[in-house]
Amino acid sequence: MRWPLLFIAAVAGALSPLAGATAKAADIADLARQEARLAVAGWRLTTGSVRWCPVAEPQPGWILGDPRRFDARERAAAQQVYGTQGEAPFVAAVAPGSPADRAGLARGTEIAAIEGQPIPTLGPEPTIRIDAAIVMLAALEPAAPVAVTDTANRTYRLDAAPGCASAFRIEREGVQAAANGKLVRLRLSLAQSITDDAELAAVVAHELAHNILLHPARLADDRSIDRIRATELEADRLSVWLLADAGYDPFAAVRFWQRHKRPLIRAPTHPPTRERIAAITAEIATMTAARAANPAATPLELGGAFLF
Ligand SMILES: [Zn+2]
Repeated sequence: MRWPLLFIAAVAGALSPLAGATAKAADIADLARQEARLAVAGWRLTTGSVRWCPVAEPQPGWILGDPRRFDARERAAAQQVYGTQGEAPFVAAVAPGSPADRAGLARGTEIAAIEGQPIPTLGPEPTIRIDAAIVMLAALEPAAPVAVTDTANRTYRLDAAPGCASAFRIEREGVQAAANGKLVRLRLSLAQSITDDAELAAVVAHELAHNILLHPARLADDRSIDRIRATELEADRLSVWLLADAGYDPFAAVRFWQRHKRPLIRAPTHPPTRERIAAITAEIATMTAARAANPAATPLELGGAFLF
């Protein structure tokens, strides 16, 4: 009769704080890994297409984090993974070679101010401070250097790097992927399921295209099925140009949809996968022909093909 003892030991082990903390640390480490991938994709996509984006902003090449996004039981594990100590917002990920990286900002740098302006705390919400930082950055001159001050009062001078206007974030809950005009959000489980970096970039490019094309504003007054379907296909098509100008293979968007035969969102508002693949493939042909005639061709020159 030795099994009850083993059984009790196993249950006690599973419930011990140490075992719980270890599991949390692994989860948070994976969140940080996906944030690092998103930092690279977001930085490459926004800066690669800046010459034709209608609205630009400084792109430091970072993803911001906040300890408030982790509950009391997770806080210690989050501090361990990110290398933070205090309660301030922090740099969660940096794209290699980006202005943030070159200036010496790294995962765990705790941020106090941007251009000498303290990041405000406008409420108790977990992301309210990093949302404020996004708004502060978007208001700056796109092609000017940016000064960032950490909580130890050290100032980092980031080279100018204008990019298409958008910030990026990984969420542990909620919708798979979303764009609200200022921010692209990807769910952690979706990022984890896309192991190929170019295919991840294709999903980010689709959401970034929604922001560039002002789709959230255009859908605010008309959320009809036809309008939503039109914006979905328009974002699929613009993603091709974003991918190409960031140095990714635009066919990664086709490969993503072939791999995800079951649509991410099964709703009459969203085009079937085969329609998306056809629109993306046709746009790659359009872009290839346009750039054969003029290597500097942009989607802006396609006369009404996109409603910028
Ligand atoms: Zn979409």
